[in-house]
Amino acid sequence: MNQTSEYIDSYYQATGNVLPQQPVLTGDITADVCIIGGGMTGFNAAIELRKRGFDVVVLESGRLSWGASGRNGGMCLVGYCLGLHELDETFGPEWGRQLWDLSCESLDVVRERISEFNIDCDFQQNYIELAIKPSHEEELRAYQELMESRYDYNSVTWWDSDKIREVTTSSRYIGGLFDANSAHMHPLNYTLGLARAAMELGVKVFEQSRATKLVKGNPNQIHTEQGCVKAKQVLLACNAYLDGLHRKAESKTLPVVSYIGVTEQLGDRQPITNNMAMSDLNNSLDYFRPTADGRILFGGVNHPFNGEYKDSQERVRQRMLKVFPQLGDVKMEHHWGGLFAVTREYMPQIEHLGNDIYTAHGYTGHGVSLTNIAGRVVAEAMAGNAERFDVFSRIKHKWIPTPKILRKPALAMAIWKAELEDVLGS
Ligand SMILES: Cc1cc2nc3c(=O)[nH]c(=O)nc-3n(C[C@H](O)[C@H](O)[C@H](O)COP(=O)(O)OP(=O)(O)OC[C@H]3O[C@@H](n4cnc5c(N)ncnc54)[C@H](O)[C@@H]3O)c2cc1C
Repeated sequence: MNQTSEYIDSYYQATGNVLPQQPVLTGDITADVCIIGGGMTGFNAAIELRKRGFDVVVLESGRLSWGASGRNGGMCLVGYCLGLHELDETFGPEWGRQLWDLSCESLDVVRERISEFNIDCDFQQNYIELAIKPSHEEELRAYQELMESRYDYNSVTWWDSDKIREVTTSSRYIGGLFDANSAHMHPLNYTLGLARAAMELGVKVFEQSRATKLVKGNPNQIHTEQGCVKAKQVLLACNAYLDGLHRKAESKTLPVVSYIGVTEQLGDRQPITNNMAMSDLNNSLDYFRPTADGRILFGGVNHPFNGEYKDSQERVRQRMLKVFPQLGDVKMEHHWGGLFAVTREYMPQIEHLGNDIYTAHGYTGHGVSLTNIAGRVVAEAMAGNAERFDVFSRIKHKWIPTPKILRKPALAMAIWKAELEDVLGS
């Protein structure tokens, strides 16, 4: 996963609206803000900052959207990895509500961007979270009750198994919570649409320009192999690829490798007939959705280490066959993996790290929507109004022990424990 000069081989790359290569940074330049990382976080922040009149530079070590933004499942969901009940309990009704409302705004920002910048990214509303066993149904029904009664979120309805069978051939599910607001999309094309919009607004973008060293000062200095950006303010938008650039930011997240498979085109064998995205409620969850050209995209296999499964494609396939056994003879035409960053709190880490350096990462599998609001609140804070930024930055993120050799087995054990609960739980 270290080769950054081109996009990895994926369904998204094969169907992507790839932009012309941007220049490599050479020599010294100045800017108001330097954003490190050309993914959803970086370009959302760049657009918001540029609209506020800032002079902005984006540095990307590979191609634009080379990281998770160009590889993910495209599930664009309301909320956080931390469930709503836990959100409510952990943060209390007022703060919990503010966090919830910001996650709703994330989806509004996505719709705004698509319409304002005319981004062609197969955006489709409608998503269902599926129950496999009675405890899931109980949890989802309680979730619906809380959403409607306390959070004024009224786009959800309960679907029984018969209704689910009307839209999918899978017979695995006993019910599900349908959400007409959450969505799915082609994430590489969305991010490249953001990148194009940012450049049209005047953001300077450099590819193949890895930030190798960040020297704090006034201004901060961000060094690359062939150049340097001097900028008062800096945003680390590097997700799980920080790799030593800023130890403090890195110490509260862990990288996890996740895999996706995409089938051949299915024609009238498409097992989801209404174009909606689906996932189940297991700790080690399956998520799947039809693509715009009639395939199934299937994800959910995670490797607990920052390493590779040799048989990852077969693992994804086996998980898909549990849901859609009738697809046994179907070819998996694309398969790939990528890194995402998780935090112990299952909440994003959006913080000011001191010296006008900010970070936004650790979305824990919910970044397709949350990066959009992250970019907005970081821009607000850089422009002098940190009120909404602080709704996130007040979250106390626990440090994850170093050295790395200890961090990885701890994560592996947590993931295996969660998977065991899926199998043993009622
Ligand atoms: C396989 C997979 C499936 C996923 N599925 C979903 C999903 O369905 N729904 C969901 O909400 N989330 C999902 N996620 C998570 C989601 O993709 C991320 O949360 C989101 O894309 C984060 O965006 P980002 O811009 O912060 O990071 P990224 O898109 O990873 O961008 C970071 C960029 O920074 C660059 N970079 C890093 N270090 C440097 C440096 N020193 N100098 C210059 N550039 C640097 C990298 O090359 C990279 O392009 C998934 C992730 C993966 C890997």
